[in-house]
This record gives sequence, structure tokens and C-alpha cells, in this order.
Amino acid sequence: MILPARAVAHYATRALLDLLLPPTCLTCDQQVDAPGRFCVTCFGLTSFITDPCCHACGLPFEVAGQGGRERICHTCRANPPPWERARAALRYDKQARRLLLPLKYHDRVELAASLGAMMARAGAVLLAEADVVVPVPLHRQRLRARRYNQAALLARQVARGAKRPLIVDALRRIRATPSLAFLSAERRQAAVDGAFWVPDTRVADIEGRRVLLVDDVLTSGATCAGCAEALLDAGAAAVDVLVAARVSNPRAH
Ligand SMILES: [Zn+2]
Ligand SMILES: [Zn+2]
Repeated sequence: MILPARAVAHYATRALLDLLLPPTCLTCDQQVDAPGRFCVTCFGLTSFITDPCCHACGLPFEVAGQGGRERICHTCRANPPPWERARAALRYDKQARRLLLPLKYHDRVELAASLGAMMARAGAVLLAEADVVVPVPLHRQRLRARRYNQAALLARQVARGAKRPLIVDALRRIRATPSLAFLSAERRQAAVDGAFWVPDTRVADIEGRRVLLVDDVLTSGATCAGCAEALLDAGAAAVDVLVAARVSNPRAH
């Protein structure tokens, strides 16, 4: 993946500054011992999601024993997602936005390393069992405007840390009416049904594999569901989902 020049310059400048100046907290200007850490106050403000949480969607449970023996929340029980398991590192709250919005909109690409480490901890089991890691794609127009896909940066971090193969282009995303002429009949149907599809050139990499799908934020789950369906349609053995942050109550956002 090619990072935008200004992001590389920013990263290089930060790396240089880290050598010259004491490192600062991930989310404030407080000095810390090493780069990529929180200060004590910001660490206290960060809502890490740990067990107990819904095994299907990563929703943190308020009390132990919630979700029954299978640890599945009411929503997933009533309407099971197409993926098998999902985990999120953080609750999507004000503090999580201080990490995720600069990564997404302000070229703070170095935040992907810290978020990736948090995701690797939350999704250790999923990562250990994954055959391949695949990011949720950006629509091409948006990728051109933003010049990098934050989900791909996170996927690269978790894949590298766990020594799992990363396939950045396993999924394509459609927004406007797509040109379907180059797709096989089956893929064309999938493209019409949903906004995501696996290009024919990538089907062999997905077929029979347990795929770990990576995104920055899980809100309603519709995006990950579209991606999971496309991956399963292409023959994936199973799909798990790993995100940096999860919205606890999608209706509140
Ligand atoms: Zn701080
Ligand atoms: Zn659930």
C-alpha cells in the first residue's frame, strides 16, 4: 500500500521528533515513557472491551452471565450476523474518537500501530485461527480523496504482528452503478445484491479460508455484514471480524 507523501512526511517528522523530544501521550500532550502510550489520565479514560462480551458481535455485557452459556446477545440471537465471531478493542466513545478520527481524517497514520496492538490483544484468538486478514475496502473515489484506507492500515498492523497473510484487495466496494461487464455471472449477481464483492482474481485466495475481516469502527454491522456475505459467497470457510472500536448502542449515534 502506498501512503500519501504528506502522511509519510508527517510520520518521518514524528519519528525524528520522538528522537529529539520526549514522546507524548497518544491522546494528549502529556509526556510519557515511550511513544505509542497513554498517560495515566488518558489510559483511565480509555474503555477497553474485555470479556464478558457477545461472542458474535463484540458487544460488552454489563454483567457476568449475560448472553447465556453461548455468550450471545439478544440482538445476535434474534438476528445472527453472517460472520461467526467479532471482537472490538474499544468502546466507540469520546476517547476512542480521539484515536480514530485523527487516523481517519488527519493523516495520523502512526496511530494505526497503537490501535493495531490493542486490536491484536482483543482479537488474539481470532487472529491465531485466521488464514488470511482482509480489510473493509474504501470506495475508489473516497480512497482517491483520502489517499489511504484506515482499515487497511489497521489490517496491516494486526496481520504483521500475528504473521498472517494480508490481502488488501480481496474486496471491492461499489457505490455508483458499477460497470459489471468484466464480472462473471455469479460475481455480477453478488455485486448487484450488495455493495461488496470479491474480484475473480482473488477468489482462489479466499476459497476455503477462514478470513479475519478488519475495520476501524463497527456501528450497525451492515458494512461488515456486506463484506462477510461477499467473502462467504466467494467460498470463504468462515469470516470473523476484528475492529478497533464498537458502538455500544448504534441508535444513539
Ligand atoms: Zn494523555
Ligand atoms: Zn451480539
